[in-house]
Amino acid sequence: MHRDTMIVHAGYRASQETGPFRHGPQFSSTFTTPGDPSQHQFTYGRFHNPTWTAWEEALAALDGGEAITYASGMAAVAAVFGVCLRPGDVVVLPSDSYYTIRVIASNWLKTIGVQVRMAPTRGNAQASALEGARLLWLETPTNPQLDVCDIRELVQAARAQNVLIAVDNTTATAYLQQPLALGANYVVASDTKALTGHSDLVLGHVATTDPEQATALRTWRTQHGAIPGPMEVWLAHRSLATLPLRLNHQCASALQLARFLAAQPGVEAVFYPGLPDHAAHEIAKRQMKAFGSIVSFDLGTRARAEQFLSGLTVVREATSFGGVHSTAERRARWGGDAISDGFIRFSVGCESVEDILSDVAAALRQ
Ligand code: PLP
Repeated sequence: MHRDTMIVHAGYRASQETGPFRHGPQFSSTFTTPGDPSQHQFTYGRFHNPTWTAWEEALAALDGGEAITYASGMAAVAAVFGVCLRPGDVVVLPSDSYYTIRVIASNWLKTIGVQVRMAPTRGNAQASALEGARLLWLETPTNPQLDVCDIRELVQAARAQNVLIAVDNTTATAYLQQPLALGANYVVASDTKALTGHSDLVLGHVATTDPEQATALRTWRTQHGAIPGPMEVWLAHRSLATLPLRLNHQCASALQLARFLAAQPGVEAVFYPGLPDHAAHEIAKRQMKAFGSIVSFDLGTRARAEQFLSGLTVVREATSFGGVHSTAERRARWGGDAISDGFIRFSVGCESVEDILSDVAAALRQ
C-alpha cells in the first residue's frame, strides 16, 4: 500500500466492520469497572481513552514505533527528558533548538543535577559533544532557522558511545521524515503544527521502538497527568487523513516562495533546505521527502520586517506554523534565538501559491 493511502486509513476501523467509519470522541472520566480493574480495557480517563487509542494506532503506523499522545509538544518533550535523565546525566541539545526546550533544560534539568551541553545543528556539530552523554537531542530542520543535521550519521556516532537519541520531528512531520527508521530511539513532535494543520488544537506525541520505554512514557503521562482532551485528539485524527494532500501542496508552494524571495533585492538571506545553496541541502534531499512548509528570511531590520508584515493582506501575522492558513511573524519579537531583528518565519499554507506570492510581492514593494 502506498504511504499516502495508509495515512488516509490509519487508525480507522477495518473495512469489513459494520458501524460508523470512526467513533466520535469518548468523553468519559470514568468507565464501569466491577471487580478486578486489570480485567477491564478502560477504567479511568487519566489512564487511557478509546479516542487516544485510535489516534495512537495511527501515529504508530506513521512513525514506525509505539506512540504515546500528550497534552502538548512540550509535555511530550518533558516526558522524554523525565524518563531518560537522572541526576549526574549529560544531555546534548542543539544550541538552535526550539527556544522553550532550551529554557526547560536550563530551568528544570540543571536544577535536578543534569548537565546540559549545547552545540549547533549545522555541520553535525553535536557529534563532538557526546562523550559520557546519556541523551542526544536532535531537531531537524530547526525552528526557526531551518538548519539540518544528518540523523543517520549522528545516530551512528551516538550509538558507538552508548548514547540514546531523540529527534524532535515537529517541522518535518512523520510524512516527510522518519527518524525511527534512521535508528533514533525516540521521535518527538508537537502535533499542534503541520501534522494536524488546522490551528485549532494543541497536542504532542512520542514514538519509540522500545516497548519498555513506551511503557515508561505511558506511565509518565498517567502519573504526571499531561493528558490530552478527547476532543483535541479526535480533531487531530480527523485532520490526519489530509496530511499528504496538505503537505505536498504546502511544500511545493514553500519551495516556490523560497526561490522567489531569493531573487528579491530587499531580502538579505533566505533559509530553506530546498534551496541548492542551503548548507545542508544534500542531507535534506537524502533524509526528507520534501523540504517542509516553513520558509525563513531576513529583511535586515525590525522596521523593514514590521512594515512587510503590516503590508500582508492574505497572510496573517501570527505565531506557530504548519497550518492550512499562511502565517508570518518577526521571530525576534519573542527573544531567545540568535537571529536578526529583521528575521521572518513564514509558514506556507494551502492557499493558491499565486495569491501567496502576490501578497508577499506587494508587501515587499511597500
Ligand atoms: N518542538 C518544536 C520544534 C516546536 O516548534 C514546538 C512549538 O513551537 C514545540 C516543540 C512545542 O510544542 P507545543 O507548542 O505543542 O507544546
